[in-house]
Amino acid sequence: MSTTDQVTDVQIIGAGLSGLTAARVLTDAGRHVSIIDKGRGVGGRLATRRIDDATFDHGAQFFTVRGDDFREVIEQAIADGVVAVWCHGFDNDDGYPRYYCPQGMTGLAKWLTADLRKRGIAIDTATRAAHIEATTDAWRLPLVDGGERLARSLIVTAPVPQTLQLLDDGAVSLSAEVSEQLGQITYKPTFALLVRLDAPSAVQPPGGIQRTEDDLFTFIADNHLKGVSATPALTFHVNGPVSTSRWDDKPADIIADLLVEAAPWIGDATVVDTQLQKWKFAGPYTPHPDRHLVVTTSPGPLVLAGDAFGGPKVEGAFNSGMSAGQALLA
Ligand SMILES: Cc1cc2nc3c(=O)[nH]c(=O)nc-3n(C[C@H](O)[C@H](O)[C@H](O)COP(=O)(O)OP(=O)(O)OC[C@H]3O[C@@H](n4cnc5c(N)ncnc54)[C@H](O)[C@@H]3O)c2cc1C
Repeated sequence: MSTTDQVTDVQIIGAGLSGLTAARVLTDAGRHVSIIDKGRGVGGRLATRRIDDATFDHGAQFFTVRGDDFREVIEQAIADGVVAVWCHGFDNDDGYPRYYCPQGMTGLAKWLTADLRKRGIAIDTATRAAHIEATTDAWRLPLVDGGERLARSLIVTAPVPQTLQLLDDGAVSLSAEVSEQLGQITYKPTFALLVRLDAPSAVQPPGGIQRTEDDLFTFIADNHLKGVSATPALTFHVNGPVSTSRWDDKPADIIADLLVEAAPWIGDATVVDTQLQKWKFAGPYTPHPDRHLVVTTSPGPLVLAGDAFGGPKVEGAFNSGMSAGQALLA
């Protein structure tokens, strides 16, 4: 869709898993959908980064599958070589598959995107909504880099505090009840320390160490053992309290301190390069009880979705996207 005054049927903000899933549901039903995402690529928190010949998953590391709808999609992705089983538990084998994407976790989003584009759906990255405003007969999204989008229905999948800001900046008022519900959804921040090594790390197969919020590092991934990176590359996720308390510190200081703590997993290898990714909204502490929320129906349906509604996981984002798409069909 162009950035002129055309009014589209459904505009989706966010090409993460929830937005892409909502688009799939709506497209399957013959609705016309357009997606924008402020990121350079699709995927949102399904995030993969390259540093030279090393590849890092730095958002979601793996996912599980419980529901039949998600299973159906993941089985297709497995058949297409986009998803595979990483292991059946990180400490011990509990029989439940932990899935990953051999091309990096963005692979799942890219696969969904390719399918939607084949069906004529416009998915524009590096396209940021400045705010959301209501006109008499459509939702209007002015874009930060110029132009605008107009739509009869709107699905917003950004983290809730960002969505509230978009609505506030566009003078969209919410009922006291909805404001209170959404105001209670707070997020855990997470640092991801990316470490490129010159030799294999001390992490053992299968290359994932899952720990708790009581540990400094909540997850440690060896992207090489995992099968994502051609060369040794570690990702360390830092717990919420430390990520919060050090949020404004100089990245170089944070990296230096974290590397000291990371030494047991780096082993005898030499650190070649590091980067720090700061996720301000890594996951909701207390998701909304419903899988989507229709905030208002005037000038058209405005539906909120994302893992704040389906639960703070990859499958939660999928479930919320499905639910939001189905809500518009209903
Ligand atoms: C560090 C980390 C580790 C994780 N580990 C796991 C794990 O191991 N297993 C698991 O199941 N889950 C994990 N998760 C959670 C999982 O990644 C998320 O639940 C899921 O990816 C969320 O998808 P979403 O579509 O709801 O949101 P997102 O993926 O965040 O998508 C929202 C999109 O909206 C876009 N957007 C926001 N504002 C605007 C705007 N104004 N204009 C245009 N676009 C906008 C953003 O760019 C983004 O792409 C992890 C998350 C993080 C951050």
